[in-house]
Amino acid sequence: MIEVNRSECLILNVDDYAPGRYARTKLLKQAGFPVIEATTGKETLELAEKNKPVLILLDVNLPDMNGFDVCKKLRSNPHTASMTIVHVSASSILTQHQVSGLESGADGYLVEPVEPAVLLATVNAFLRARRAEDAMRKSSDELLWFSYRVGHDMSEPLRTITAYAQLVKARLQNREGPEIVSLLDSIAAGALQIRSFMDGVLQYSQAAAGFSRLTPVDCEKMFARVLANLDSAVRDSGAVITRDPLPEVVANEQLEGVFQNLLSNAIKYAQPGVAPEIHVSVRKDPKEWIFSVSDNGMGIAPEFLERIFEVFNRLHGQEIPGNGIGLALARRIVEALRGRIWAESQPGAGSTFFVALPF
Ligand code: ADP
Repeated sequence: MIEVNRSECLILNVDDYAPGRYARTKLLKQAGFPVIEATTGKETLELAEKNKPVLILLDVNLPDMNGFDVCKKLRSNPHTASMTIVHVSASSILTQHQVSGLESGADGYLVEPVEPAVLLATVNAFLRARRAEDAMRKSSDELLWFSYRVGHDMSEPLRTITAYAQLVKARLQNREGPEIVSLLDSIAAGALQIRSFMDGVLQYSQAAAGFSRLTPVDCEKMFARVLANLDSAVRDSGAVITRDPLPEVVANEQLEGVFQNLLSNAIKYAQPGVAPEIHVSVRKDPKEWIFSVSDNGMGIAPEFLERIFEVFNRLHGQEIPGNGIGLALARRIVEALRGRIWAESQPGAGSTFFVALPF
């Protein structure tokens, strides 16, 4: 079982009722936890931000603020968002109170009277879960940092290889035969392929590292930019892209990358000899916008519809260039926006990719 070093786990004990607060603090201190106290919502928010406790025992009925609102405020502040919050209440003891408490972001809800042994065991259980989560986050952060560094550090030498291969080709073009020139082209093409793969890895690790603030995104303008970026692919393939009027949504600039990938795939995975016909539409559901990108391309067998969103999973060889990162990256971005992404398709009958984004 994971051991918790209690002396390193600062607890903030919040209660305006002095005897209850005192008894809890005494119990926790005797068990080896450092404890600080607050008696109002305002004080809780200030002490939490300043002292960074790992766990807050939060009374629900505070003189200046409802404990549920305090919890919501703690969750919306990046400095206090990840603290473990357990409501303890002697007066708000109904099921509906517990449900509201947990739904407003608390991790647990205890109803007084709580046996001291139960309180301590609950605190310990939450701290153990937290330790396990921290350890997992640390190893995942290290992995992401590793992939970021690999992506970043390989990019420069690959650029150099491409540039020198082109330079040597230019110098030898008139002196050597076509064989040498074609070998140099192969070197440059290989380096370019690795670079595009590494760029994907870099984007994928950066997408996980943190998200910028949410802002209104005008999807009409966003699509105009995406179409401009895909201009040569559209012209080369003869693709016809149509769209419904698009709304403004709450997202971040990474959403553009999601739609760019969906449209670029819709062009790339066309049926041989058939010009891509792509339609982007949107509908408003009670809680979310649901965008769809439909194509008349080669389609996907139903058993692969989930797997294509896993990183490095491709259904094609290098006859169609790609690195298998685009859809995994898209899923990561959309899920960080609290949205969903999925696909419907049949082989030979085109595909539709859906992106649902909450209001
Ligand atoms: P990439 O295109 O770089 O291979 P993606 O993650 O964007 O990587 O897509 C994963 C795989 O899903 C692709 O390799 C392709 O096999 C399949 N796929 C994606 N979009 C489509 C589409 N519109 N039609 C058919 N297959 C698709």
